[in-house]
Amino acid sequence: NEVGEISLKDIYQIAKTSFPLCMRHLFEKVREDHHLKHGGRMQLGLFLKGVGLKLDDALAFWKAEFAPKVSAERFDKEYAYNIRHNYGREGKRTDYTPYSCQKIISSTPGVGDHHGCPYRHFSEENLRAALVRMGVSSRAVEDVMDKVRNRHYQLACTLTFEAVHGSSCDAGINHPNQYFIDSQRILQS
Ligand code: SF4
Repeated sequence: NEVGEISLKDIYQIAKTSFPLCMRHLFEKVREDHHLKHGGRMQLGLFLKGVGLKLDDALAFWKAEFAPKVSAERFDKEYAYNIRHNYGREGKRTDYTPYSCQKIISSTPGVGDHHGCPYRHFSEENLRAALVRMGVSSRAVEDVMDKVRNRHYQLACTLTFEAVHGSSCDAGINHPNQYFIDSQRILQS
């Protein structure tokens, strides 16, 4: 199946196996900090929508993750609108599409932001540590860092994909949701 539906209970497992590093990072941060600034909520929220998380599950996800810091009342008042908006249920009712790599790479995260592309926006030290946590071998890490030094961020992501899946990705990575679909295709075959 192509983009199916993903239920809330499956998202935690799937995040570990099939999210690209940009989304893994946001997902880990919201679970750690129980908050994400606007840029991160947009980048991760639209990705999750593309993955197949339904609106009700998306609302439940953000509400639960924010709960230690944000009361249910405040959540409904300050955050729920934007989530419904992303799903085209508010405002102009546009059905917003998830961000491409190009858009994410050219974003400019500020202090305290966690959105962006880790290959482009992380320090070398943080990127290396994140790759090791993903299970990328030290040899493959060097290949990835080589692409990063040459500013080939999507190629760096493609090499990471190939390293963690043990399978080639000839088309290359150009969209986080494509990374997800290709990953699921390999893991489910
Ligand atoms: Fe995400 Fe694309 Fe960067 Fe990979 S190359 S981490 S999918 S923005």
